[in-house]
Amino acid sequence: MQLLAGKPVVDALRAGLLSRIQALKERGITPCLTVTLVGDDPSSHIYVNAKDKDAKELGIESHTYRFPATMSQADLEAHVRKLSSDPKVHGILVQSPLPKGLDESRVVDCIDPTKDVDGFHPQNVGLLCLDRPGHRSCTPWGVIQVLKHYGITTAGKRAVVIGRSDIVGRPMANLLIHKGALGDATLTVAHSRTADLASVVREADIVVAAIGKPEFVKGSWLKPGAVVIDVGINRVEDASLPKGYKVVGDVEFSSAQDVASAITPVPGCVGLMTRAILMSNTVDAAERLS
Ligand code: NAD
Repeated sequence: MQLLAGKPVVDALRAGLLSRIQALKERGITPCLTVTLVGDDPSSHIYVNAKDKDAKELGIESHTYRFPATMSQADLEAHVRKLSSDPKVHGILVQSPLPKGLDESRVVDCIDPTKDVDGFHPQNVGLLCLDRPGHRSCTPWGVIQVLKHYGITTAGKRAVVIGRSDIVGRPMANLLIHKGALGDATLTVAHSRTADLASVVREADIVVAAIGKPEFVKGSWLKPGAVVIDVGINRVEDASLPKGYKVVGDVEFSSAQDVASAITPVPGCVGLMTRAILMSNTVDAAERLS
């Protein structure tokens, strides 16, 4: 069984980004990412700090805007519109989830699509569906880079994506049916209403799990030799650890590793890739906008 570690993929990606950022700086342009955080969701604070750190390490200018959960929809939309029209800003990310009462879709609609480095704006979603250039949603695009790095082709293979969320499942499914060696899969999208998920999974040469349920997919469900991409990030209590919890994926690693030919570790692959692709999308935006 091959462990599909994210670090070598991220290292290669970052090396390429560093030289592109250098080339931009020689032209007097510093890529600039803005992250907007509303409210005090503890996980969101951790994610936002990580994004800020990633950006600074690469020499990307990073600004984090923090607002109270009481912020109004109109003020948030005005803030995003202002960033959209600021020529010094190349990337705009609004950290999800927003506090109750704020409509995320309407906020995303206010982001200039060329600066929508999360790839959530309807224009970018449409471009993705049509396989035309645009910002790709970071997590599924990161998964494609992992497959590419490890020489895993999907063409002609049976793929199952478990989950149909706007940020992972749907864009992942779209990418896997694009024409090309990293697409051309014969695809099934499974979701919460799928009957007999185990038998659906057993058909698949490639399984992408994006469910949000710890260790939900069992090794016994897998076709022998399947490639498993575990997108899940779930905290489960573990009193034996100093932090009191551990992070596990949506796939039961202990049983899957005996059946799969390759599997992504959690943590250590898709999460790292997601962060790296956000930086890559920001550099893409800076290049396109300048
Ligand atoms: P979501 O809750 O929006 O979607 C979960 C999907 O799973 C839904 O479409 C639902 O239909 C499906 N589902 C739920 N129960 C199911 C069942 N019993 N059988 C089959 N399908 C079922 O979640 P999401 O935002 O897509 O995230 C999914 C997981 O990926 C979470 O663990 C999340 O933390 C993780 N995630 C990781 C990254 C990363 O960078 N690695 C990024 C985004 C999300």
